[in-house]
Amino acid sequence: MNKIMVTGGAGYIGSHVAAALLRAGYEVLVVDNFVNSHREAISRIGSAAGKQPLLAEANCASTEQMRSVFEAHPDVIGIIHLAALKSVSESVLFPMRYHCNNVIATQVLLGEAAAQGIPLVFSSSCLVYGSPAQLPVSERTELSKAASPYAASKRLSELLIEQCVNDCASMSAITLRYFNPIGAHPSGLLGEQPNKPENLLPLMIDVAIGRKDALTIYGNNYPTRDGTAIRDYFHVMDLADTHVAALKRMLNKHNHSRHEVFNLGSGNGVSVLEMVHAFEQATGQSISKRIGDRRPGDIAAIWADTHLAQTELGWQPSRTLADAISSAWAFSQNTNKQ
Ligand code: NAD
Repeated sequence: MNKIMVTGGAGYIGSHVAAALLRAGYEVLVVDNFVNSHREAISRIGSAAGKQPLLAEANCASTEQMRSVFEAHPDVIGIIHLAALKSVSESVLFPMRYHCNNVIATQVLLGEAAAQGIPLVFSSSCLVYGSPAQLPVSERTELSKAASPYAASKRLSELLIEQCVNDCASMSAITLRYFNPIGAHPSGLLGEQPNKPENLLPLMIDVAIGRKDALTIYGNNYPTRDGTAIRDYFHVMDLADTHVAALKRMLNKHNHSRHEVFNLGSGNGVSVLEMVHAFEQATGQSISKRIGDRRPGDIAAIWADTHLAQTELGWQPSRTLADAISSAWAFSQNTNKQ
């Protein structure tokens, strides 16, 4: 009886989480509708972890489909809910699509989790802080206006979790607010493979392998040290391990309240230009750049205060920025070879 449901488990972060759970001895049930991933991810997780996950192909936002999944797997003891659409720019164009997919999926899962008292770990984002007035941001930082429908979908999901936990005494949840996870699994089998890259590292890789002629830097007139946007990058392997820790915390009843919230980041802000330099150093590739307009929904700077996660979850990222970049580069070389 140690089956964990990982929604969005075929995606970038979910595949690393699934592999970490399998390595930690859990049975894993991936629930995914492959809206932004490939079925092949399931066998890759198996090869990376040395043990195959189970798969239920379903839309998490469908009450009917999820009810069938829970009926077929009455032995699920924990849920890690990563399934979501995550493109900020697409969410600005199609806000209802983001609301319906992300918020409704959380609502449907909460209904099942609360009915059965199954603890849930939720993938949130630092974007819930909006454009913060003070840096770094801690979990006590006031949430300012969501800068995009994607960010709003995470805030609404968090709110639903809070209300569900308040209403239902058997329910517990941990919300993890990720900053900017990057990098890939050391096996070279799992990594970020977006159909339409929007994040900086996949965009740089596209330039380095010749798929794009230059990296567009979206804005060089932000009020930051070099005018480019600042983010807090950290290794996806550290993130994956911490999902296992968060889940165990609730299963072992070590949580201090029934809904805990933790920031996960490196605690350091790195600008776009600094990342380009770090990429060039780590890979030996040179990146052509051009300056473009700011993207709607983007903010100038954000990085995390991670003291709470350090104290409570043992958050101690052990991989460096260079490790993360090198692993992502190795993954791209591996996948482009095939
Ligand atoms: P991803 O797109 O690679 O993975 C998401 C997975 O969820 C995909 O496999 C997709 O097919 C699946 N999915 C989406 N909607 C679904 C639905 N309704 N039913 C079933 N499956 C569905 O994204 P990711 O980068 O791995 O992100 C995972 C989670 O982490 C998301 O919730 C995202 O919002 C959050 N997050 C990501 C980042 C980041 O930088 N990657 C940062 C902060 C938060």
